[in-house]
Amino acid sequence: MNNQEGKFKHVDNLWDDKKAAALGDDQVELFLYRSTLLGADLRITNYGGGNTSCKTMEKDPLTGDEVEVMWIKGSGGDIGTLTRAGIAGLYTGRLRNLKNSYKGLHDEDRMVGLFYHCIYDLDSKAPSIDTPLHGLLPFKHIDHLHPDAVIAIAAAEDSREITKKIWGDTMGWVPWQRPGFDLALQLENCLNENPGIRGIVLGGHGLFTWGDTSRECYFNSLEVIEMASAYISQKTGESKNVFGGQKVKSLPEKERLEMASTLMPLLRRQCSSENRMIGHFTDSEVVMEYINSHDLEKLAPMGTSCPDHFLRTKIQPLILTFEANEDLTSDEAVVKLTSAFEHYRGKYKQYYETCKRDNSPAMRDPNPVIILIPGIGMFSFAKNKQTARVASEFYVNAINVMRGAEAITSYTSLPAQEAFDIEYWLLEEAKLQRMPREKVLSRKVALVTGGGGGIGKAIADKLAAEGAHVVIADIAEDRLKEAYNSYQKDVAAYVVCDVTNASSVKEAFKKACLEFGGVDIVVHSAGLAISKSLEETTGEDWDLLQNVLVKGQFELARQAVAIMRSQNLGGDFISIASKNGLVAGPNNVGYGTAKAAQQHMTRLLAAELGKDKIRVNTVNPDGVIVGSNIWKGTWAEGRARYYGISVEELPAYYAKRNLLNEIIYPEDIANGVFSLVGILNKSTGNTINVDGGMANAFVR
Ligand SMILES: [Zn+2]
Repeated sequence: MNNQEGKFKHVDNLWDDKKAAALGDDQVELFLYRSTLLGADLRITNYGGGNTSCKTMEKDPLTGDEVEVMWIKGSGGDIGTLTRAGIAGLYTGRLRNLKNSYKGLHDEDRMVGLFYHCIYDLDSKAPSIDTPLHGLLPFKHIDHLHPDAVIAIAAAEDSREITKKIWGDTMGWVPWQRPGFDLALQLENCLNENPGIRGIVLGGHGLFTWGDTSRECYFNSLEVIEMASAYISQKTGESKNVFGGQKVKSLPEKERLEMASTLMPLLRRQCSSENRMIGHFTDSEVVMEYINSHDLEKLAPMGTSCPDHFLRTKIQPLILTFEANEDLTSDEAVVKLTSAFEHYRGKYKQYYETCKRDNSPAMRDPNPVIILIPGIGMFSFAKNKQTARVASEFYVNAINVMRGAEAITSYTSLPAQEAFDIEYWLLEEAKLQRMPREKVLSRKVALVTGGGGGIGKAIADKLAAEGAHVVIADIAEDRLKEAYNSYQKDVAAYVVCDVTNASSVKEAFKKACLEFGGVDIVVHSAGLAISKSLEETTGEDWDLLQNVLVKGQFELARQAVAIMRSQNLGGDFISIASKNGLVAGPNNVGYGTAKAAQQHMTRLLAAELGKDKIRVNTVNPDGVIVGSNIWKGTWAEGRARYYGISVEELPAYYAKRNLLNEIIYPEDIANGVFSLVGILNKSTGNTINVDGGMANAFVR
């Protein structure tokens, strides 16, 4: 049957007969198993793209009759992680009967509402727009996939002839039509006219394949994609001149990253003209080959083809060019950027005005999602890192499609009106409206020093929980790695940073810019404490405290403000100081003086940076013992000796001396930081004591 099994060069055969056998005859489980295998390979389908289904016989709860039920991936999920919770179960009979109700293309939106009347399983996810495409085909197991190789064929000129050339009479072909009931009817017709075919290529879109069993369906899909890929790689091999050959040379890696990190905040400023955005950067080989090519100027404006692609990437990218030695921070460079973005927004507005219909939703953010800079790389911007990263992955899919289609014949794209009708489809709009409300700190990037543990980690955790992207900086790499692993993907980055060293601080901000597009919040929490009397305190002790606490804060502020100014989005700088900067006591000359300097620097910077909407505030912790690194060293012993108690007795001792009799935890300090950056957004030059109440530390 599947004589190609095990011979795949362009896709991976992941099917494990033992694992499948363990699922017995449970067709739904077998279909879910197949889906996760297909979704694991991005060459087979893009993230969130395509859908899979199966049909089983079930007992109708009302009549007790045996009825056919179709199980299909619900709206919005990804087949790679599909579970029972992500699917919908519908009566196939009812779905087919909808044919009697359908009145033509103007009727598509109403049909989607009718899908809900076909639901069999009350725990179903919302049925996707592709539901009737699966429902009107009679096969037990069906895959609808978006493989780059097949879309390349679907988007090539003469797509129909090429389909015939590759698969002969075994493959059907239908012209571009946006997903919906009409496309479902076209698929049904195609099958009726070509009985015995193994699948159908959807012009400008993707692929349908099927099988009697989940296994048969899987191998049918793999074989079809393999054949498409083999055809393209043969064609690409023949034409030596991919994308018309190289026009621009990539800058050497170090310079490339240097320029990319300088550009990021400037691009972010432009992309955030309506809504604050988060950035993502990539300079992979696939991207560089395309953006450095002669054909970039021809292909990029044509737009991406598969609807999945341009819903994420916008129909067109913005192309910018810079010379290798150009001063990106000069006024001329900023003017050049501003006018390029204004031009892009103007063109987008024009596209909206030309294509809009009476009931179209209002125009969305007109800024580009994808920005291509020959020689440097691809930048993408969206509401969070995950969305920006996925957009850039989709653009890579689009590049693969263009490369394939150009190798075969030439790449074609959708007419602007078709693209618009999908982008501004009322059902798409409804999907956007259903999105959960964004958190207070979403779309913001926070850099936290001392973020590897203790108070710094608690602060980073709190900011991340409130929606921020966090860059944790620390001198100890092992601690950083462990801390980093506690975050979900796309939320955090880490960087080894010695705050006493200006170039190390620079590297930390470079990381923030390349990973997330810039920085909005800086929290200086790195610190150490030395408790010694005047005569015991050495010059080295003094310098160390001054360097880490005071000079570190100065350096962080200096570099952060430069980035914040180029973003023009305001910002927050928080200094984690100490009660000891306000209250005098013995054995504390080095530490207390440094903490007081941190506090006064906050006021000075607040006075200077207000005009840039950069707010500078202080949080004063006191007596945070549990979970704090400072207390792991000799400081705790020193304090314990001073109070005449044991180290173990310190938390209770400290709790007793504050007005509220509370033990202060790192999470309490994190709440103090959050209140300043997330709630008190009209405060600057302020101090918040998080100490359980100490009368001698009252600020006023
Ligand atoms: Zn599709």
